[in-house]
Amino acid sequence: LSDRISQSLDRVKGRGRLTEDNIRQTLREIRMALLEADVALPVVKDFIEHVRERAVGQEVLKSLTPGQALVKVVNDEMVRVMGEAHDGLNLHGKPPVVILMAGLQGAGKTTSTAKLARYLMESEKKKVAVVSTDVRRPAAIEQLETLAGDIGAVFYRAESGTEPRRIAEQGLEHARRQHADVLIVDTAGRLHVDADLMQEVRDIHAAVEPLETLFVVDAMTGQDAARSAAAFGEALPLTGVVLTKADGDARGGAALSVRQVTGKPIKFMGVGEKTDALEPFHPDRVASRILGMGDVLSLVDEVQRKVDQEKADKLGKKLKKGKGFSLADFRDQLEQMQNMGGVGALLDKLPGAGKLPPGAASQFDDRAIRRQVAIINSMTREERRKPAVINGSRKRRIARGSGVEVQDVNKLLKQFTQAQKMMRKMGKKGGMKKMMRGLQ
Ligand code: GDP
Ligand code: MG
Repeated sequence: LSDRISQSLDRVKGRGRLTEDNIRQTLREIRMALLEADVALPVVKDFIEHVRERAVGQEVLKSLTPGQALVKVVNDEMVRVMGEAHDGLNLHGKPPVVILMAGLQGAGKTTSTAKLARYLMESEKKKVAVVSTDVRRPAAIEQLETLAGDIGAVFYRAESGTEPRRIAEQGLEHARRQHADVLIVDTAGRLHVDADLMQEVRDIHAAVEPLETLFVVDAMTGQDAARSAAAFGEALPLTGVVLTKADGDARGGAALSVRQVTGKPIKFMGVGEKTDALEPFHPDRVASRILGMGDVLSLVDEVQRKVDQEKADKLGKKLKKGKGFSLADFRDQLEQMQNMGGVGALLDKLPGAGKLPPGAASQFDDRAIRRQVAIINSMTREERRKPAVINGSRKRRIARGSGVEVQDVNKLLKQFTQAQKMMRKMGKKGGMKKMMRGLQ
């Protein structure tokens, strides 16, 4: 999917002008690519219709970079179809809060149970218990027991011969005694949706009253995923979806169909067999991945939206005239960075940024930026314009005023000098505006 769509978009991306004809052809290609990726037909129709409306409208044809604008429209629509931002899990209830996992056999329920347990233990610092109600396959219970042992989750084993619904109840009782915050109940799957299976999982649901009922579905199964999602959605009050095997999903269709078919948000994505291979689902990232552009698009979007264009222009003019870059300008820049969620958030969005060592971005974190802004705020106007006048006693006064140490003031002044140097270089090359355009 990714290749096909990005190829057809590449063809129009650099164009200075687009006609309704080019757009129509690009849309035809995207439509084919989506159908081949096994996205459900109603979803494809709806998707293309929305893109068409926006594409032949003012938004794309009249824009300065129509090719780019079309890419953005396609990207935005993908995000819309997959559902907006990631919805976390609802864990607001009397502990142990129950999460029920349902889905077909082989979808990845047992693996996802362990992954989710680990995620909640590590990221949310929860005490998690798990229980398997899959009595049809004894190996399935052992599979979960082994995984629970690996990650250190509480595991409950019922006596053999206990029926699934009772196992779930006993598991809940056990989790309560162990003071677990969360109990995840794994269930049996079948090869096909059938009445018995649905009744069994409904009984379990009624017995343990989960706050989250997650439908686990294999991303590789394309339209079948959408069909089974619809069946489970009728039988159970689903609250969300776990899309597994997204790592091997060459076609990428399921992510686009499942949300629309179930009306439920995809909450997590399985990206491998190990227990740490689970990611909260971010529609914008997945859309960009499908479009093959890292998250550059959303980065550009954010920069455009949040950078105060006027201030950037003013600064650009000032630099061109050869006037100095002052501490007040530096403060403006810091504040803009803060508006964008800090450098860390920006770095996060760049392709390949996952490879940065942890903490690399945190030196620019929000608190650091706020401290830097506070230091500049404690200076007089004169000091901001002419930092050279800041001597030892002034530094002490500034430090006291902003609640930091003198060495923090020194550090800020050093960073400012570096920024000033960079600005001087950029001023020569054509300023901030050019740099911003370069990003696109
Ligand atoms: P269940 O029948 O629904 O409980 O499915 P299992 O959890 O036993 O998983 C079935 C198979 O899919 C196992 O071999 C898992 O290792 C594999 N699997 C599950 N989730 C993922 C995933 O996100 N990525 C990959 N590559 N394999 C997965
Ligand atoms: Mg299983």
